[in-house]
Amino acid sequence: MCWARGNLPARAHSNSPFGQGMLVVVCALLLVSSPAMGSLQLAEGLLCVTPSTSCGMMAPSDAMLQWPTRRLLLTLLPSHPLHGLTKTRFGADVTLYRWTRDQVTGSSLTHNVCHTCFKRQEKLHRCGQCKFAHYCDRTCQKDAWLNHKNECSAVKKLGKAPNENIRLAARIMWRIERESSGLAEGCLVSIDDLQNHIDNFQDEEKNGLMDDVQNFLDYWLSQGQQFGMNYISHIFGVISCNGFTLSDQRGLQAVGVGIFPNLCLVNHDCWPNCTVIFNNGKIELRSLGKINKGDELSVSYIDFLNLTEDRQQQLKRQYYFDCTCEQCTKKTTDALLLAVKEGDPKPADSVVKEVTQFSMDTMEKIDKARSEGLYHEVVKYCRDCLKRQEPVLADTNIHKLRILSISSEVLSYLQMFEEAAENAKKMVDGYLKIYHPHNAQLGMAVMRAGVTHWHAGIIEVGHGMICKAFAILLITHGPSHPIAKDLEAMRAQTEMELRMFQQNEFVYYKMREAALSNRPIQVMQEPKNEAQGMIFHKKS
Ligand SMILES: [Zn+2]
Ligand SMILES: [Zn+2]
Ligand SMILES: [Zn+2]
Repeated sequence: MCWARGNLPARAHSNSPFGQGMLVVVCALLLVSSPAMGSLQLAEGLLCVTPSTSCGMMAPSDAMLQWPTRRLLLTLLPSHPLHGLTKTRFGADVTLYRWTRDQVTGSSLTHNVCHTCFKRQEKLHRCGQCKFAHYCDRTCQKDAWLNHKNECSAVKKLGKAPNENIRLAARIMWRIERESSGLAEGCLVSIDDLQNHIDNFQDEEKNGLMDDVQNFLDYWLSQGQQFGMNYISHIFGVISCNGFTLSDQRGLQAVGVGIFPNLCLVNHDCWPNCTVIFNNGKIELRSLGKINKGDELSVSYIDFLNLTEDRQQQLKRQYYFDCTCEQCTKKTTDALLLAVKEGDPKPADSVVKEVTQFSMDTMEKIDKARSEGLYHEVVKYCRDCLKRQEPVLADTNIHKLRILSISSEVLSYLQMFEEAAENAKKMVDGYLKIYHPHNAQLGMAVMRAGVTHWHAGIIEVGHGMICKAFAILLITHGPSHPIAKDLEAMRAQTEMELRMFQQNEFVYYKMREAALSNRPIQVMQEPKNEAQGMIFHKKS
């Protein structure tokens, strides 16, 4: 696909070039710019896995998981009618593998999300039997039946649906009953062999586990086979540390949780060669570049934009291993993330320390103000902090990037697009120096920045960013992903507007004004303050 120079649509929109196209798409997309930034990371994020040789730290109980099942090599991907491409790959179609497995909708959204494809929709059809399951249409309902059959009668009997962990555990066990012995086709590892990390649980987690097991028994009750308490606990432990958070079609919201055993073989690397994305009800493992036959496949479980020490701590806390990847060993990006302003003389160490501390303190205040919805306060804090940072910290400094990110998102929400765009531009310039060029978080950030510029009427930069984001997301998400499709539509729209702008600036601004006054920009989703740990099913 040639995204760089698409063709001008044969016929421009009749009354206004900004009519449908701009406003509808922009409004949809701006939802993405929620400062919670869970969105893409939801899909990007991954599970805990068996700590590998490269990630060090092997607990004694891991002995049962011997190589090669402890890591996923390209050559180990099973051939499957859907995909199963096992040769060296690079290019636009980089889906290495696609799975569906045991997956359930989140408890708060069971009426808003299709239980098969996980699309969020206004109108869904309800299962006539249990009145609990919801589907887009007959096709989704039919596809669900094998997995829903037992669930349907269990929900009916209990009179209500239990929480998602319990529903997921039950689905796993019904599958075990169905498939009884050995590994099912295409499955590289059994759920029995996945780690549960129960020994590492804190008291609170242990209590939660016990509650779930108790409620599970009420739900499972008279259904078929009986499993021992240890085994049931194992399943819940596995869900707790291997559960993959499923996001809706636009990556805006976590809508469910699933277990994909094959994916649990993919180890973490802070600079991975693959990424994982949830697309149309299926998990896709996509390659980010050239992978050679025999290479180990890796994904990143966390956002890369952190100091090595912080990344390692997060991995240890959430996934119980010490990361010893190349990035962590060499601390490759720490210098950039801590960089101070070039100049003569360089800012003194004491000044750098003071501004850094000030930035961290401001961050706390911002978090508090944001959680209380005091967005104008947030803007004030950001402006003050950026002013202090400007002469001291470099543009790639993590403390500066954090403030830029929050301020651009909150300013967008407040519809102060010009200032938002200015900050978004600085942020993106910094990100481009730090992230892997094919990183989903980077792609999403560039997209948000592009939309902000578009809103601010800075069409040239906006269009450039949208093209850039589209190029990244074609790799990380693939052309069939709804976000990539949105971007494609925006790319076409902004390109058309850009031509108009180049032909006659005055007319461009006139039409823009008219379009905006005809139909005010929809109120955007409120910026939310979401904890990093929310990316994963596993709480941090
Ligand atoms: Zn559906
Ligand atoms: Zn049902
Ligand atoms: Zn690492």
